[in-house]
Amino acid sequence: MAQFKVVIIGAGPAGYFAAQALHNQQNEDRTFAIDMIERLPTPWGLVRSGVAPDHPKIKTVAKVFEKIAADPNFRLFANVEIGTDITVTQLAEKYDAVIIATGSSMGKQLGIPGENLPGSMSAADFVPWYNAHPDFADVNVDLGCDTAVVIGAGNVAMDVARMLALEPSELDPTDTADHALDVFKKSSVRDVYISARRGPEHAAFTSPELRELPKLEHTNVVINLDDVKAAIIRAGDAPEKDVKSNLDAMLSIAEAEPKSHERTMRFLFQHTPKEIVGTERVEAVIYSTPTGEVTVKCGIVITAIGYHAEGIAGVAYESGKVVNTDGRVKENIYVVGWAKRGPSGVIGTNKSDAATVIELIIEDLHPPKNNGDISDLITDQMVIDQSGWQKINAAEVAAGEAKGKPRVKSVRRIELIQLTAL
Ligand code: NAP
Repeated sequence: MAQFKVVIIGAGPAGYFAAQALHNQQNEDRTFAIDMIERLPTPWGLVRSGVAPDHPKIKTVAKVFEKIAADPNFRLFANVEIGTDITVTQLAEKYDAVIIATGSSMGKQLGIPGENLPGSMSAADFVPWYNAHPDFADVNVDLGCDTAVVIGAGNVAMDVARMLALEPSELDPTDTADHALDVFKKSSVRDVYISARRGPEHAAFTSPELRELPKLEHTNVVINLDDVKAAIIRAGDAPEKDVKSNLDAMLSIAEAEPKSHERTMRFLFQHTPKEIVGTERVEAVIYSTPTGEVTVKCGIVITAIGYHAEGIAGVAYESGKVVNTDGRVKENIYVVGWAKRGPSGVIGTNKSDAATVIELIIEDLHPPKNNGDISDLITDQMVIDQSGWQKINAAEVAAGEAKGKPRVKSVRRIELIQLTAL
């Protein structure tokens, strides 16, 4: 019986599904000892800091992660950063395989004038801010304006627009960061535009997200019927299933009786952002459209146009991803998830993606190295292990119970670390 040591860098969905796929490949000849390293004091990646707080069902996948973590051959090393103190090369010397699962955390930029004005920000800052990510607690979100613009036609743009357009008391029973809930409650924003550069037939939203919009209890959702009719014609007689499903969902929104709530979320199609204008801060977005230039006055602009991966020293990156062939990076180093394929797909997509990479790892295995592990490399770092994380988790859930929320997240690193001492 051979035991192989595998280290996974990044405790998000891609990392956990890689661990699960390794477990599934154990047999009478081989087992895997898995060490998972996470930069933050808490695991779960985008399930904690990306998924919208009003989508608690999506977060139930965390139960799967905790089941994987309960395996006696699994160890969590949270609050440990790879790249500076400990390098990927050092890990590759010690482990039989290194799996990079660090995702894509940097927001893509539009590259248009005015993008850096105060009041213009990326969803890559806004989303972790409302989700209590420690590195984004101090992001300055000023919602003292009446109109917000969200640029992009994907599910992240949809999450951001919905969070801005909701009646904030709807967020009371969620795990939205307390600091963000305060800002949402004081928000003056009543009109939220979500702008797509192409037509409805090309939108990257998925239809369940569109279909839930009419269920918003305090928000009018407006899609121009002519935009959808024109898109249906352009899509032709046999559109792809997902396109048809999206167009059906948009048609039903466009044809619905108008409501008269105080808050409105409005879709703009075929609006390509050209410039963000303002003297001291954002005042408007100028778009080019098929019928000419259109100016939308607003006080905040959030771009949600995709992500690229943040680099790790010693690993080559290109086009926002780790350079790889089907997940193979070099020697015994591999990559899974968004760092491998780019920021596409839902959480579950990582399951099959990881399984295929684990098959390659198995093909490539040499006899076990037995050359130590990360414990030999960690010196004075304050490591949070699985039991430390369980204490954080239990404390957050208990704090939530008192307020009718799934949890109250601690935000600061120091607070999170203190919870491990309880
Ligand atoms: P996405 O789905 O790739 O959408 C990006 C959007 O940005 C597209 O509409 C794209 O338009 C637009 N865009 C790109 N460059 C642009 C530019 N220069 N100017 C204007 N628009 C531009 O990315 P995402 O929304 O970040 O989502 C990432 C992944 O996470 C997706 O697979 C998504 O489904 C998933 N996700 C899922 C959920 C959920 O299941 N509830 C929630 C959040 C995210 P073009 O098509 O014209 O390029």
